[in-house]
Amino acid sequence: MTIGGEMPKKVLPTPEDFKEIEDYLKRHGFESLEPEKFSKERAYRLVPPRRVDGRETPFVYKDKGLEAWVWTSWLRNENRARENDPAWTIVVQSDALRYSREPIKRTLNFKKTLMNWAWIIWRRVSGRPTCEECGLFMDIAYGRGIGARYWKCNNIHRHASGEPVRLDWDFNMPPKAKKLLEKRRKAKERYRKKRRVQGKDPFAARKNRKRWTRVSKY
Ligand SMILES: [Zn+2]
Repeated sequence: MTIGGEMPKKVLPTPEDFKEIEDYLKRHGFESLEPEKFSKERAYRLVPPRRVDGRETPFVYKDKGLEAWVWTSWLRNENRARENDPAWTIVVQSDALRYSREPIKRTLNFKKTLMNWAWIIWRRVSGRPTCEECGLFMDIAYGRGIGARYWKCNNIHRHASGEPVRLDWDFNMPPKAKKLLEKRRKAKERYRKKRRVQGKDPFAARKNRKRWTRVSKY
């Protein structure tokens, strides 16, 4: 696993890889948004921070008022992956980006990595918890620390306690997901430690990354 800074060798996915990724996503209830349909749906205007060459088919899974999006970097019309572009897994609520994993580089383990993280955001969306006090769906809140999230219900006038209710971000996540997340967090921690020892900003890659933007037309 490589995070930021280092440059692993690029290995672009093949049409067979993409087919496997697509089948996997569809089995999990994701639907593909073909560019023709995509441009008509005003709700889908959130685009990744990158130069767009060619039209990509994103996949979206909608459940419980949230949307899990997977951008694969695959150009279906041209039957190839974009030359310079990572893949993304994000969670969107009401047209706003609520969570984004770091971009996934196309390296040797790309297919497996993308499927794993697509599965994780699918679990996050399908497992959106309800508040134990008022029964409403809980929202994704920003925690302390870069990239930190947790579940929160701020509907305090309907809470007997009069306080917000909070749950761990990994609440409802199955053991396999927790294992993957743990492994990822440990790798990140190792990377940050190394950067600190080198006197470098451990969050430079994240800070320098361009933001997702909304556009009026795709
Ligand atoms: Zn509540």
